[in-house]
Amino acid sequence: MAEELLKIQNVSKSYAGVRALDNVNMSIGKGEVHCLVGENGSGKSTLIKIIAGVVKPDEGEIIINGKTFRNLRPIDSINEGIQVIYQDLSLFPNLSVAENISLNQLIVEKRRLINWKEIKDIAKKELSNINREINLSERVENLSIANKQLVAICRALIQNAKLIIMDEPTTAITKREIDYLLSVILDLKKRGISTLFVSHKLSEVLQIAERVTVLRDGKKIGDYSADELDYDTLSFYMSGKEVVSSPFSYEEKHGRKPMLEVKNLSKKGDFKDISFKLKPGEIIGVIGPLGSGRTELALSLFGLNKPDSGEIYINGQLVRMDSPQKAISLGLSYLPEDRLHQGLFLRQSVQNNLVVTILKKLLNKFKLLDHNKKYKYAKEWVNRLSINVPSLEAAAQALSGGNQQRLVIAKWLATDPKIFILDSPTVGIDIASKNNIHNIIKQLAREGMGIIMISDEAPEIFRNCNRIMVMIDGSIVRELNTVDITEDELFDMLSSN
Ligand code: ADP
Ligand code: MG
Repeated sequence: MAEELLKIQNVSKSYAGVRALDNVNMSIGKGEVHCLVGENGSGKSTLIKIIAGVVKPDEGEIIINGKTFRNLRPIDSINEGIQVIYQDLSLFPNLSVAENISLNQLIVEKRRLINWKEIKDIAKKELSNINREINLSERVENLSIANKQLVAICRALIQNAKLIIMDEPTTAITKREIDYLLSVILDLKKRGISTLFVSHKLSEVLQIAERVTVLRDGKKIGDYSADELDYDTLSFYMSGKEVVSSPFSYEEKHGRKPMLEVKNLSKKGDFKDISFKLKPGEIIGVIGPLGSGRTELALSLFGLNKPDSGEIYINGQLVRMDSPQKAISLGLSYLPEDRLHQGLFLRQSVQNNLVVTILKKLLNKFKLLDHNKKYKYAKEWVNRLSINVPSLEAAAQALSGGNQQRLVIAKWLATDPKIFILDSPTVGIDIASKNNIHNIIKQLAREGMGIIMISDEAPEIFRNCNRIMVMIDGSIVRELNTVDITEDELFDMLSSN
C-alpha cells in the first residue's frame, strides 16, 4: 500500500448501550480511493464523525500523518487536511460559485477586507488546478448537483485537503454525473489526495473504489481490494447472509396477447413517444437515471399524470387512464417510489394499512367493517409475504424498511392486480429484504402477473427482468432482452448514455 495517511486503531463507540462501533481498524493510504460500505446502522456515519473529530470514541486512537490523537478535535482533523463533505454539501445557495469556494478560507484567515477579484482569483485557480471550469459568478442554486459537488470539493481543496470524505455522494445524481465525479476523484488521486466515500450502490463502489472496507453491526468485516470483489461477494460480506436469488426466465408462450400496450405516449416535459407491450408473466425493467421521466411515465399509466397524446390499451381495449380508481378497476397497481409518504399511513396499524385498499370487501351484511374478517385477512398477507411484525396492531412506522416495503406490496396485492408497476421497489432497504422482495416479484410473474419494474440500479434490473427499456431524457433509447446481454454490457450501456 501507498504511504499511510490515516489509521484508525481499535476504535469503539457505544450510544446508550448500542455498540455503534466495536474495535474497528482501518487505514487509508495517500492518494487512495477508499469506500466504506455497510447496511443502515452498521456504523459508517459514526466512523466518519470520529475521523472528523466531531464524535469522541470511547476507546481507540486515530493516527493522521503519523501523529497519534487520543482526543481528536474538529480543528485538529481540519489542520491535518481532513475535509468532510456531507450529503447536503453545506453550500450557500444564494452566493456565487466563487464566493462559495473562497469565503471559508478568507474567513479562516480572519481577513477584514475581501475584494471580489481576490475571491474570483482564488476560486479560478483552484478549479483550474483540477482542470475544471464553472462560471464563477453563477449562483450556486442554479448549478447541477454534480457542479455543486465540484464547488464543495474545491472548497475542501482550498483548505489544504489531503483526505476528502463524502457521505453517500452518488445517491441523487445521474449515471453521467457519477462518471464525472469519478473523473474528478481520479484527478485528485493524481495529486496525492485521498478520497473516502460511503455508498450503498455496490456496482458503483466496485467501479470507483480501489479499496473497500466493510462494516456490519459496528464490526469491521474486512478490507478488500476492489479487484478481488464482485457484487455477490460484497453483498454477502455486508449482509452476512448468502442470498439465494432465483433466476428469472420468461418463456414466450404462443398466443399470449399483451395485457398492456402503450402507443406513442407523450407528455411535454416528462416523456415522449413511448411505445411498448407487456405480456402476462413478463417483467419489464425500466432503467434510467433520476429525471429520465421514468416515474412520470409510471404515474401516467396509473392515471395520475394525464398524457398529452398517445394511447393505452388494456387487453386490446383502448382506455382513458384518467384516475387511479380507473386504473385499479382495470387491474393495475402502483408501488410508489416514495413509500413513506405515498405508500403507508405510518401511524396506523399494520392491519389498517393492509386493508385500506380493499375495505369494501370486508364489510358485513350491515355494511359495517367486519373486524374478524379484517384480522384474518391481514394475518394471511403478513404470512404470505413474511412480513416481520411485533403484532398486527403495531404502527407501520415501527417496522424496518424491508418490512415496510413488503407491507406496501401486500397492500397493493390485496387488490388482486393483473399488472403491477413498481417504482424503485428496493431503494434503501437491506440486502436480504431486497432479495426477498425480488423473489416475491418473480413469483408473481410466474403466476401470470405482468410487471413493470423501475430502477436506477443495473444489477437489480438485469437480474430480475426479462426485458429492459433504457430511458434517457424522456425517451426509450434502447430496448433489449436480458438474455442477449451481460450485466457488464448493461452497465457500460448506461455509462455511455
Ligand atoms: P450508518 O451510518 O452505517 O447507517 P450509524 O453510524 O449512523 O450507521 O449508526 C450506527 C448505530 O449507532 C445505529 O444503531 C444507530 O442507531 C446508533 N447511533 C448513531 N448515532 C447515534 C446517536 N447520536 N445516539 C444514539 N444512537 C446512535
Ligand atoms: Mg449513515
